[in-house]
Amino acid sequence: MSALFVARSSLPLSIRSFYISSAALCIVGLLCHQAYQRWQASKNAPRFRFLDLPAELRENILLYTIDRDPSYPAKPKTAAQSPGWMSRLLPSRKPVITGGPALLLASRQLHDEYSAVLAKIGTFKLVINAHNYQKPAMWQVSAATFANLRHVRLELHLTPSMMGSFDPRNASQSPATEWPLYLHVCRALAKMARLNSLEMYVHACGDPLWNPLWLWHYASQAFKQADVKQLRSIRFKMDGPGLGENHIARTSGGCWEWRCRKEHPIRDESEGWLPVRELCAALYRECASCQLQKEEAERMNW
Ligand SMILES: [Zn+2]
Repeated sequence: MSALFVARSSLPLSIRSFYISSAALCIVGLLCHQAYQRWQASKNAPRFRFLDLPAELRENILLYTIDRDPSYPAKPKTAAQSPGWMSRLLPSRKPVITGGPALLLASRQLHDEYSAVLAKIGTFKLVINAHNYQKPAMWQVSAATFANLRHVRLELHLTPSMMGSFDPRNASQSPATEWPLYLHVCRALAKMARLNSLEMYVHACGDPLWNPLWLWHYASQAFKQADVKQLRSIRFKMDGPGLGENHIARTSGGCWEWRCRKEHPIRDESEGWLPVRELCAALYRECASCQLQKEEAERMNW
């Protein structure tokens, strides 16, 4: 063994380099040959096309790709998502779209099928704010998808100017049929031919001069009288916690009533225009059922 080692190590350097290069070339050639054989095998293998599946099976597969409810307009990028100064130093990279949204870009047929499934099972969050409320098309949703929507959460981010007046008290003195935004929303809802459930959130924002109650009052009293049977509830929000305790919900009989956060009935809602003071009282009225549950829980702890 030691004699052989001595014999090999005694070979001239050029001959040893030749042996090593030849061995490396053989290995590379072998790997290329194997890769070529695999490519040939995959080329000749029977191919499976997703679009050859029956439509029902494709729909079942598409259901697995939907992992979130869409929002229009799309949420702005957060600080964590926005590119920082480091990204300017790195080479630019195209954004990678994965999951369900990637299917929207695959083909027109897949786009239509994916949109139809999404409209059937997803809850579309449609936001109306100061930026889009005057646009003819408030959301970038195709007419076909719009007509297929089943579940919608409509968020009104109201400012006094969106009510057509700087002073919301002036707006509350006029009927809803004179409110351009109300008519605009009703026309949009009328295009949702398959709408099954609609939840409305009245988000008071904007001018700190005005009490949010005026915005909640006018919007809720206007939309509760809209001819939209799918409208199930009207909830109230604003920046900051602790406000908008109770909400208005439609009963199985089609009437409106006030409910607490746990959906206990609190009081009936009038069919006509509720005075703003009564709305304020109903909004913050304590729920007797919740109070009873609380007292029972305290008694059990004793
Ligand atoms: Zn309650």
